[in-house]
Amino acid sequence: MSDALPRSADVVVVGGGVVGAAVARQLAIDGLKTVLVEAQAFGGAVSGASLACLGTHMHNLDELGVLSEACTLWQDFAAASPDGFEYHRSGQLRFILREEDMAVARRWVAAERAFGLPPEILTPQAVREIEPMLTGPILAASWSPGDATVNPFLAVRALLADGRRHGLVTVRANPVTGLLTDGARIGGVQTARGTIAAHETVIAAGPWSARLAAGAGLQVPVVPRQAQCLATVRQPATIRTVVGACESEGGVESGYTQIQQARSGQILFNTVVAPQQTPPGAVDRLNEVPRRFVRDSIHTLVTLFPALGNVALLRSWVRFEGVSPDNLFLAGRLPAPGLSIAAGDNGTGFCRAPYLARLISRLLRGEAAMPGDALYDPARFAELRS
Ligand SMILES: Cc1cc2nc3c(=O)[nH]c(=O)nc-3n(C[C@H](O)[C@H](O)[C@H](O)COP(=O)(O)OP(=O)(O)OC[C@H]3O[C@@H](n4cnc5c(N)ncnc54)[C@H](O)[C@@H]3O)c2cc1C
Repeated sequence: MSDALPRSADVVVVGGGVVGAAVARQLAIDGLKTVLVEAQAFGGAVSGASLACLGTHMHNLDELGVLSEACTLWQDFAAASPDGFEYHRSGQLRFILREEDMAVARRWVAAERAFGLPPEILTPQAVREIEPMLTGPILAASWSPGDATVNPFLAVRALLADGRRHGLVTVRANPVTGLLTDGARIGGVQTARGTIAAHETVIAAGPWSARLAAGAGLQVPVVPRQAQCLATVRQPATIRTVVGACESEGGVESGYTQIQQARSGQILFNTVVAPQQTPPGAVDRLNEVPRRFVRDSIHTLVTLFPALGNVALLRSWVRFEGVSPDNLFLAGRLPAPGLSIAAGDNGTGFCRAPYLARLISRLLRGEAAMPGDALYDPARFAELRS
């Protein structure tokens, strides 16, 4: 690992979460002299705290093509990478507790099947053949067999290792403090340890991205959203798949829920609070997980898996995701020459990262855009049109 500060590069990428790591790796593979600068530790913000499920099920239908491609890119990377990151084709179940969620689930499944994907609705009995300990009072569940999980820290490490094999230079513990201007262009970054001149600068700083872009006089509509996760003490093998909540209009009482068992045996489960409830300054504070969320999350876990009723909680953590008003990433050029962005994740940035990396590389190398790229164009927001 290199922590020496290069003075110049073709591209400097700001932020070493999964998105910045994937973008920087792709640029290096595609032949650009690239430097990745991280303020603290690689993967140390929300990326390392992620449950890192890679799937197509019950996300934005407009993004199905992108998500399918992203899942394939992860699968191919897992097959080719010498650095294992616990890629596991677990499949995903979305539990249905209420009658009104049945119709919602059926709509999702029909739309995804029309796209050629294989999800289906399972009866409780069929669910138990896949997930025997899920004995709670569900009405049904949708099942997406192709979804996978990875170990988030190892996956970020693997991306960085692969990037370095292609000449990527990585610098950690060095916050970017401002953007350099070179005439009318953004000409690189000022960091705590010196400047890096670059023809192109990519902001991939998660919920901190808006603050960095403000340095170029831009208003980027990415705000922090608090996401929390709980982990039990190690358990014998209990949960085989990713167990999520049905994405219904009303949502489940506890907000978004995702439950899975890590290779370590710990059961991990999480909830997020709604966007806009998190004040922008909160991103720099590591809040306590609110008691209500702990209570609701445990309630959901033991409702679904009654056998876990006496399991002890080991720890909890809070991180901040950067979200945009339409819950889609901003990935593309900003109205300041030499400046691009990949941030604003809708809670599933881990999955999308390799697609966004290709998008940014296409853009910076002047290649034609792919149809899905337009979804993420920052210029969809009036304040980011030049
Ligand atoms: C509990 C939980 C479960 C999740 N489950 C899933 C899931 O199942 N599937 C999925 O796809 N996604 C999931 N997510 C979301 C996913 O983790 C995020 O979308 C993704 O990690 C965002 O990555 P990022 O690189 O954009 O952001 P971050 O990881 O926040 O990275 C941004 C980086 O920028 C750095 N930075 C900030 N400012 C500066 C600066 N001035 N100079 C240099 N560096 C800077 C930060 O230190 C940070 O490391 C989950 C999230 C949580 C919290």
